Amino acid sequence: MALTDRVLLGPGPGNPYPEATAGLAAPLLGHLDPEFLRIMDESCDGLRTVWGTTNRRTLPLSGTGSLGMEAAFSNTVRQGDVVVVAVNGLFGKRMCEVASRYGAEVIPVEHRWGTPVDTQRVLEAHPAPAIVGAVHAETSTGVRSDIAELGAALRARGDDTLLLADCVTSIAGEPIDLDGWQVDLAYAGTQKCLGVPPGLAPFTISERAWERRVQRPPVWYLDLGLLGDYLGSGSGGGRTYHHTAPTAMVAGLHAALGRILDEGLPQVFDRHVEAGTALREGLAELGLELFAQEGHRLSQLTTVKVPDGVDSAKVRAQLLNAYNIEIGAGAGEFAATVWRIGLMGHNARLGRVAQLLGALRAILR
Ligand SMILES: *Cc1c(COP(=O)(O)O)cnc(C)c1O
Repeated sequence: MALTDRVLLGPGPGNPYPEATAGLAAPLLGHLDPEFLRIMDESCDGLRTVWGTTNRRTLPLSGTGSLGMEAAFSNTVRQGDVVVVAVNGLFGKRMCEVASRYGAEVIPVEHRWGTPVDTQRVLEAHPAPAIVGAVHAETSTGVRSDIAELGAALRARGDDTLLLADCVTSIAGEPIDLDGWQVDLAYAGTQKCLGVPPGLAPFTISERAWERRVQRPPVWYLDLGLLGDYLGSGSGGGRTYHHTAPTAMVAGLHAALGRILDEGLPQVFDRHVEAGTALREGLAELGLELFAQEGHRLSQLTTVKVPDGVDSAKVRAQLLNAYNIEIGAGAGEFAATVWRIGLMGHNARLGRVAQLLGALRAILR
């Protein structure tokens, strides 16, 4: 089988990107071409739609998802600010590390991996932190946390804490209502459910957070004050040169967003639920046990325990070599005991589920 036939069901930046191909394969435009500027503006509009926000400052930053995380903290954290981070997996841990590098006094609220964020415990961690950060869909564990509940609880408390949500694996894979959930800052990546190669970090910031941003952050490239002009939303209203936009990547994002919105967001989300449900049922029929806590399982990323006595790496190698299917190993301490199976974007289809289950059945028999 050719490498191009490979079915990549891992959670990492290795999903196939048919959605974006139309944009990537189109004749490329110069970064100042009015047609490119239109594609950029439409992409920002598309991001507002999939995210459920009217935030003026919504744009794809030039870098991967982690860069979005870095942009959020570098523009909002002042030396000594208290930042509470809900940690229920690898990416919550990363938030702590990034926030602390910008001078935050980080209070991690540790959760057992595989469980969702406990809003009450996050609230009790500090009476009035500057920022609360949480991951909506933890790719390391396959768990969804309730960002709406967290936002409502923070607002009910009446302080002006900013809420930051990591939406890397949730964007375009499940409903998100940033404005309704009262989220101030969010970032994402393109290579998960958006189905675009890695390289852009969709980012959004509310007016409230914008007003409280650090005026001269210790990082130049990610200074949102400068990027406002880059986008044409700065004080002067016009576009000024900040850095050269990655035109091909933006064209890919534009094509993918167009395809997703053409299919319809409810239809896209239903497709993810249908595929995820079928996968979980099929895994149960094979006698496999799921890792993430029931009721909080993602459709787009399923974590399953490697059965006792089975060599995790060997099965993954067999899937890849004999069936051309790639799944992910577990994250962190679960590297050898958990598999992570992505059904993101284009791959959220029953056909993919059947392919994988058939192969797994044959291998485990
Ligand atoms: C993949 C991922 C990231 C990091 O994104 P990169 O594109 O690898 O930098 C952050 N958070 C979550 C939840 C992710 O799944």
